[in-house]
Amino acid sequence: MSKKWRLTDRTRTLLTLELAIVLPAAALMGFSIWNLKQIQRDKAVEAAIQRDFQYVLKIAEKKSWHQANDLITPVLKEFPSPDDGPQIKGKLDRILLEHPEYAYAALYDKTNNLLVSRMQPGRDQDQAFCGFTQEDINMLASWLPSEASTTVKRLRKMKEKEEEPWGFYGGWTLHANQHAYWNVAYFIPAGVSPDRVALGIVAFDEDYLRKTFFPAIVKDVLSSKSTVLRADANLPVMMIHAPRDSTPWVATADWDGGSPEEELRFSDVFQDLIFAMKYRGTTIADIGSRFLRYNYIVLGALSALMVGGIWLTYRNVSKEMNLARLKSDFVANVSHELRTPLALIRLYAETLELGRLTAKEKYQEYFRIIREESERLTALINNILDFSRIEAGRKEYEFKETNLADLVRSTLDSYRFQIEQNGFSFEENICSDIPPVTVDREAIARSLLNLVNNALKYSKDQKYIGVSLYRANGHVNLEVQDHGIGISPNEQEKIFEKFYRCGDPLVHNIKGSGLGLSLVRHIARAHGGEVLVESTPEKGSKFTIALPLDPALRTAQAAA
Ligand code: ADP
Repeated sequence: MSKKWRLTDRTRTLLTLELAIVLPAAALMGFSIWNLKQIQRDKAVEAAIQRDFQYVLKIAEKKSWHQANDLITPVLKEFPSPDDGPQIKGKLDRILLEHPEYAYAALYDKTNNLLVSRMQPGRDQDQAFCGFTQEDINMLASWLPSEASTTVKRLRKMKEKEEEPWGFYGGWTLHANQHAYWNVAYFIPAGVSPDRVALGIVAFDEDYLRKTFFPAIVKDVLSSKSTVLRADANLPVMMIHAPRDSTPWVATADWDGGSPEEELRFSDVFQDLIFAMKYRGTTIADIGSRFLRYNYIVLGALSALMVGGIWLTYRNVSKEMNLARLKSDFVANVSHELRTPLALIRLYAETLELGRLTAKEKYQEYFRIIREESERLTALINNILDFSRIEAGRKEYEFKETNLADLVRSTLDSYRFQIEQNGFSFEENICSDIPPVTVDREAIARSLLNLVNNALKYSKDQKYIGVSLYRANGHVNLEVQDHGIGISPNEQEKIFEKFYRCGDPLVHNIKGSGLGLSLVRHIARAHGGEVLVESTPEKGSKFTIALPLDPALRTAQAAA
């Protein structure tokens, strides 16, 4: 039996170890490995997103270039030559009428120092427009005489290299405290001889660029099957702004503010426009930190689990160690308790055998001592037997309807003499209204004896024992009170554990096995009741066994 006991104990410890430490540790390791891989992957994903953003922005630039070239090609064919004289104005007006995307058109001929410029006739009622446009034309007029020759030379070289024979020039101005973008296309009109300096110029209308041209580009880029769009559930959004001003000049409808993830400053057709991109509602860093936060939480939880496991194991191991120590104390105590009464019995029996005693009272006294010591032995052996039965789960109770008052009285009767002889004042308080209760007579009697015996053992000068039996709240209470050494509050729960004996040095001089109270508790619980203690060190203790009057409670708890 002891082999089986040790095996289950070991298996339990191993199981606890496995569940509490090995599993969380393995999980933690697994998670860390996975985590590392994730972080690597995550970094790669972040870089890929940034690469994709740059790629999309470059596509936007390229598309803008193509669109601008497509817009300028038909204008070139229709543009007047400096030799068209009075027809120039009419031709320019026609071009502007047919192409509302331009704000104005101009023809410059350096040889004749001629600059003919026309504004978009469709908007001649718009005063603000006319004001701004006139400002731009004036700027152009001041710029052309000094710059036209080099510009024409550059255009001729481009033509020789079979590049597009036109150029764009753009930038930002402030219109009514707001950044506005201007952009002009310049070219050499058809039929101008190589030695002549003449330039044709058309300027994009800012409203057109802001409301039509760039929104279309942005929409086109974002809806194309680019790599970004397959990334995940996050929606990319785009805007265009001026340098050193993050207010969007053009933005997608779902642009939600905040700083962009990637930017590209256009350098070709639309110089100084800054295209910016980000994810709607989140940032790449946010995605990263959300991922990190999640990792920290999982790591924290696993660590807590491991700490919990270690604590559990520590508790389990220290409990086992404590139990082992208590068991060895128990063996020493029990051997001592067995040896003393046996030595006394032998001593008195040998004296009697010699037949040298003359006084009859001496005989009586010696017989009494032998009887008392053998009773003590019986009580101890009964305790040990009960304990081993309980531990093996073989303890059985014989419940019978019993008159508790009679049981308590008769149990105390056989003890009364010993109590009084030890100099104790003894009070017995048994109420007359106790109904019959279903109990195991022997178990209850043994519990009472254990409590009375403890009161005897753990009293010093104040020698008093009081036993009461009374009804209270559907229970019958059996109470044993003393004025002895008492029990400190932090030990009051532990005294009911098996083998436990108080740390007080006084207790160690008193014989005991540490089994009595654990048996009393087991018996009380098997009856559906409980044993309670109230105690003050140096003042005394009161132990109460509360037994329920309702037998249903008893069976339910005993079965549990
Ligand atoms: P034992 O008396 O054999 O040591 P018990 O299980 O009966 O074992 O009691 C456990 C411990 O509780 C005792 O060692 C003692 O320290 C304490 N104890 C029990 N009854 C009393 C009491 N009436 N007064 C003071 N301490 C007590």
